[in-house]
Amino acid sequence: MASIRDDEIPSATGIPSGVRPARTEGLEVPTIEVSEELLKALPKADLHCHLDGSLRLRTILELAQKQKVKLPTDDEEGLAKALHMGEVCKSLDDYLVAFDITLSVLQTAESLYRAAHELAVDASSENVRYLEVRYSPALHQQKGLKMTTVIDSVLEGLRTAKRETGIKYGVIVCGIRHINPQSSVRLAELSVAYKNRGVIGFDLAGAEVNFPAKDHKDAFQLILKNNVNCTAHAGEAFGPESIAQAIHYLGAHRIGHGTRLREDGDLLNYVNDHRIPLEVCLSSNLQTGAVQGLATHPLKFYFDYGLRVTINTDNRLITDTTLTKELWLAYTELGLSLEDLTTIIVSGFKSAFLPFREKQDMLKQVNQEIAEVLESFQRRLSVARPA
Ligand SMILES: [Zn+2]
Repeated sequence: MASIRDDEIPSATGIPSGVRPARTEGLEVPTIEVSEELLKALPKADLHCHLDGSLRLRTILELAQKQKVKLPTDDEEGLAKALHMGEVCKSLDDYLVAFDITLSVLQTAESLYRAAHELAVDASSENVRYLEVRYSPALHQQKGLKMTTVIDSVLEGLRTAKRETGIKYGVIVCGIRHINPQSSVRLAELSVAYKNRGVIGFDLAGAEVNFPAKDHKDAFQLILKNNVNCTAHAGEAFGPESIAQAIHYLGAHRIGHGTRLREDGDLLNYVNDHRIPLEVCLSSNLQTGAVQGLATHPLKFYFDYGLRVTINTDNRLITDTTLTKELWLAYTELGLSLEDLTTIIVSGFKSAFLPFREKQDMLKQVNQEIAEVLESFQRRLSVARPA
């Protein structure tokens, strides 16, 4: 078993560093027919997944009935439509409207527990081994829940899923751009209190246009001073200046989306030189209009250039997706190879907000498991098609 090294070190395939990203170290990626079944079988990490955008459709209806919450409709088909499920929206702001519906049923401890539990179980069922769940506790107080109750309920749901499935998880607390900077500071204080107690990072989410990242720098100063990891949505609905602010004002360790980073070569090189991971969410970018079509998505360019990219779901329900589906799109629509995809999968684990040694252990297991999955699919294929 090869030891885990960083991207900078030449890979087993002998590609010199600095030319292309090192491949999945120590792994011989055989030529296998890529299928959704294969991508599902591979171990994966989802680093960008919103709790309030990733419920089961049925659960919203059941919770609404139980809590006597009025939804725009009371059947699955109508609800899917009201949520713009999987449909291209006019803008990010238009897309965000769907969250008013999901949030309307996520105002009790019980519903938060259930949503978190089901999300982690669903992710685990497609072999997501490590899940970072993000949400903003401030959006779950419409009925007077305490922020601490919100956090505890979600953590309890995730803990139960871990006991049942073995999935590892961490919570990222989101400050919201379009609320106010003081609210972000309160959420940052909460994150600091829950550091090493389930919360592994802080994020800035919400409407990007007209709500600059730098307004929230006090919250991020508190986060950084307390050595908490952070990321920020940037370059999704606004240009590269937004990414520059996330890095230089907020100190973001990762960038959510970064879709418009390609517009600024200098910043692109800075992100590359500092190995700042990008949390790419393909279908979501299409849905919010961050890209006009997947064929024009910059993911392949970023990857070929050497940036550390990861592939994530964003919102499993509202975007009607899974991590398997996102990888499949990268393969079918963007032309990434199986070797590229395994490298990106490993980058997901490498970019996790986890302590270094814990991450090393996880990477060893993941590399081994990827090799086993590839071998078993190759064996199956050679049985199906004897030479
Ligand atoms: Zn997001």
